[in-house]
Amino acid sequence: MVFDVIIVGAGPGGSSAATFLAAQGISTLLLDKATFPRDKVCGDCLAPQALYWLDELGCVDEVLDQADSCITAGYIFLNGKYLFTGDFPQNTRYPGFCTLLERKKLDYIMVKNAVKKGAIFKPGCLVKRIYRNDDYIIVDAVSEGTDIQFKGRLLIGADGANSIVSRSIGNVLRDGTTAVSVRAYYENVHGEWPQIQVYIDERFFPGIGWVFVNNRGRANIGIGYIFDKNFPVKDNLRKVFDDFVNRDLKRYLKGSRPASPTAGWWASFFRPRTVIADRVMLIGDAANLADPINGAGIHKAMESAYIASTSAVHAVATDDYSVAALRRYEALWREMDGFDWQVRQLLLSIAKNPNLKEVYLLLIKYIARLARADARFQGFCGGVFSGIIPAGDSISPAALLDAIPLDPAVWFSLFRASDRSVSLPVHDTILAGLNVIKTVGRFASNPSENIDWGVEVFNNAIGTASGIMQLPLLAAGIET
Ligand SMILES: Cc1cc2nc3c(=O)[nH]c(=O)nc-3n(C[C@H](O)[C@H](O)[C@H](O)COP(=O)(O)OP(=O)(O)OC[C@H]3O[C@@H](n4cnc5c(N)ncnc54)[C@H](O)[C@@H]3O)c2cc1C
Repeated sequence: MVFDVIIVGAGPGGSSAATFLAAQGISTLLLDKATFPRDKVCGDCLAPQALYWLDELGCVDEVLDQADSCITAGYIFLNGKYLFTGDFPQNTRYPGFCTLLERKKLDYIMVKNAVKKGAIFKPGCLVKRIYRNDDYIIVDAVSEGTDIQFKGRLLIGADGANSIVSRSIGNVLRDGTTAVSVRAYYENVHGEWPQIQVYIDERFFPGIGWVFVNNRGRANIGIGYIFDKNFPVKDNLRKVFDDFVNRDLKRYLKGSRPASPTAGWWASFFRPRTVIADRVMLIGDAANLADPINGAGIHKAMESAYIASTSAVHAVATDDYSVAALRRYEALWREMDGFDWQVRQLLLSIAKNPNLKEVYLLLIKYIARLARADARFQGFCGGVFSGIIPAGDSISPAALLDAIPLDPAVWFSLFRASDRSVSLPVHDTILAGLNVIKTVGRFASNPSENIDWGVEVFNNAIGTASGIMQLPLLAAGIET
């Protein structure tokens, strides 16, 4: 049998694409090397955007039944001290809360949903080779030790960060900014549940730590660290994680017990060389689509699945699977997300230089003080970090004017020392001076990595600036 579409990978991206396609009568084969339910290293946080897409897919009720936690805010910590509380914005097209559900459960619900809509699912099927002739794409796989071959008109690569489909169309994995993360579960955690805590810390900056506790006191705890060829990971991540758990969280985790081994995985945050080829499209982590600011990728996998499936339906209807026809996917993606992604990538490229981390942490501290003193600005910060307010919108002059506190008392609060969680500005100023000396020393000792970094930031800034200049034209409906 020749399928209209073969999808490799049954994570959130692959199952979503299978659901959207099968629901429209497209013959769809979904392959995964794992047998489900299966574990996946993740923070398990379903952002409001993911809940929106689960609703579109028709399985949000089942997810919410199993998750039954509803979290409207996250607590942010800086170097172990409470900094501020970020709320999810209300009154957007997304729900005003996130929830937590282990991937073992989420991905199983989603796969069953795809099958219910008519997709054929083959678990335990490891894809080994992909090639094409004039009429089909051919997928060689191994299932229960036996070689097996599938034919399709179109292939969607949804096989995650280590994608064989991405490699088969010429991409090089981890060839740019990438995050490596580790996480473990703890049970019997005390305190307020459910809860999400985000840790910004000089030991793992650029990167974040997290403690996500569900409503049964089970915590998903992890840290992620950004690196690239100029700024490789110098520390032993496992050691930094153990230190985070045993030192920073010692009091918080008193009486709790580890409930899983510590496991790691990675995700990349650069645009691959291509996301399309003749008869092939990449979605989700296979296309490096996770959010560069907070690492969340479940909703991005679903969103890209939706866009890819509309292009796939068009390709099937016109019987045109050429790279030229599939450019539609790229174009739709650019329209929906292109500029936003460019801004987030610029922010990430600025932040990833660890030589400047003290400067950034100081900046974060002051932004947090403003956020604490002004509810509107706090909502804005929460919206930008969670990706609900598109980063592209957030840098428009109108959005900035709307968000930046106008009350002078709020700005004076920066110089108030009554809050024990932040230090005196005088102390900060001395610290900043010392940090500048430290930073200059680091720059001087490694000029080439910093020059490369400067060029990258410059290029990203130029890209973003040209995007800003196009905004009024796009708003007026003028194609550029
Ligand atoms: C530590 C960590 C924490 C994270 N926390 C969050 C979070 O809290 N919230 C969030 O939104 N995002 C989070 N993310 C990101 C999120 O996990 C991913 O963005 C998301 O899983 C991407 O979905 P996907 O469907 O594209 O790929 P995946 O979920 O990776 O699914 C890929 C599937 O392809 C299959 N596969 C791979 N190779 C083959 C092959 N050769 N043959 C057959 N099958 C194959 C795999 O078995 C897998 O089932 C986190 C990531 C990490 C690493």
